[in-house]
Amino acid sequence: MTAVQLGMPRVPGGAPREPRPDNPALIDTFGRVATDLRVSLTDRCNLRCTYCMPAEGLDWMPDEQVLSDDELVRLMRIAVERLGVTDIRLTGGEPLLRPRLEDLVARIAALRPRPRLSMTTNAIGFAKRARAFAEAGLDRINVSLDSIDPETFVRMTRRDRLGHVLAGLAAAREAGLDPVKINAVLVRGVNEHEAAPLLRFALEHGYHLRFIEQMPLDAQHGWNRKEMITADEILDLLGREFTLSPSPAERGGAPAERWLVDGGPHEVGVIASVTRPFCAACERTRLTADGAIRSCLFSTDETDLRGLLRGGGSDEEIADVWRDTMWGKLAGHEINEAGFAQPIRPMSAIGG
Ligand code: SAM
Ligand code: SF4
Repeated sequence: MTAVQLGMPRVPGGAPREPRPDNPALIDTFGRVATDLRVSLTDRCNLRCTYCMPAEGLDWMPDEQVLSDDELVRLMRIAVERLGVTDIRLTGGEPLLRPRLEDLVARIAALRPRPRLSMTTNAIGFAKRARAFAEAGLDRINVSLDSIDPETFVRMTRRDRLGHVLAGLAAAREAGLDPVKINAVLVRGVNEHEAAPLLRFALEHGYHLRFIEQMPLDAQHGWNRKEMITADEILDLLGREFTLSPSPAERGGAPAERWLVDGGPHEVGVIASVTRPFCAACERTRLTADGAIRSCLFSTDETDLRGLLRGGGSDEEIADVWRDTMWGKLAGHEINEAGFAQPIRPMSAIGG
């Protein structure tokens, strides 16, 4: 993490006490600098993962509120040119549902300084498009895969699409995207028995596996702390079949704690957002598909940029509003505090 020492106290939950210093970067009052931008391209999805969306129903954003490609590219240009953003991850909802996404990727890759460009996706339909994405400038991909058993996959996602996801993963590797990561969420009583098989699968195919603790971000507000499979449990489940030792690699602002598998060189990651929060090293800033800036996944407030964008705001005005939002970033997500309130926006409309 790039950190600036500001040492300015902040009133918890309130406005920053000190005015924001004259610094072009996305700094906050805790000395963090956001350089990693997550852009949600849509809130729609073709799966219905149980920990993310309800089985049926969920209103989509009205089309007229969703930013156009031109608007998105403008905001990303401002982010890399003026705000010091170095990494952009495209997400959703399901980003592959966004029409002509290859063209958007090419436009982002043409920005200068060129950001590192990645995507988080369920990979449905990616098999046919992987080469075009690689040629357009996509550098890396994270594919969500919670089960390699067709029946369990259907229980987790409520759709029979495992074959499409596996084909997408294979195509990503063949197209030269590197690394190809897998994100897996374990749900008690449904797929926790697949922790070790998922790791074996990833090792066999050269994918980098990371488990993510289930977070209170589902649209139906059904998260239950007691049901969540914790990082300790994940490590215990894996430890029955593999020997894990802490990775010597520098973690930096990365959310995953990494472990060498059977002495290495292969690794497995655990993103323990709930039981081992990593907020102090957070480098992220978020843009939703309808043009809101969020300083955290768990923010209960956000800043609309769409009005300014469509109302004739200049690049520097937009940049300043973005800086102000990040300056107000809280120390942490407070999931483990009494009185924690889940944000109104679900993960699928924020972008994971
Ligand atoms: N649809 C794409 C996908 O699934 O990869 C991108 C969006 S999805 C919201 C991004 C990531 O968030 C996925 O890896 C998914 O497993 C994860 N996710 C969704 N809901 C979650 C929750 N409640 N807790 C933890 N991770 C969650
Ligand atoms: Fe869709 Fe991703 Fe949510 Fe699953 S986790 S329902 S694939 S947005």
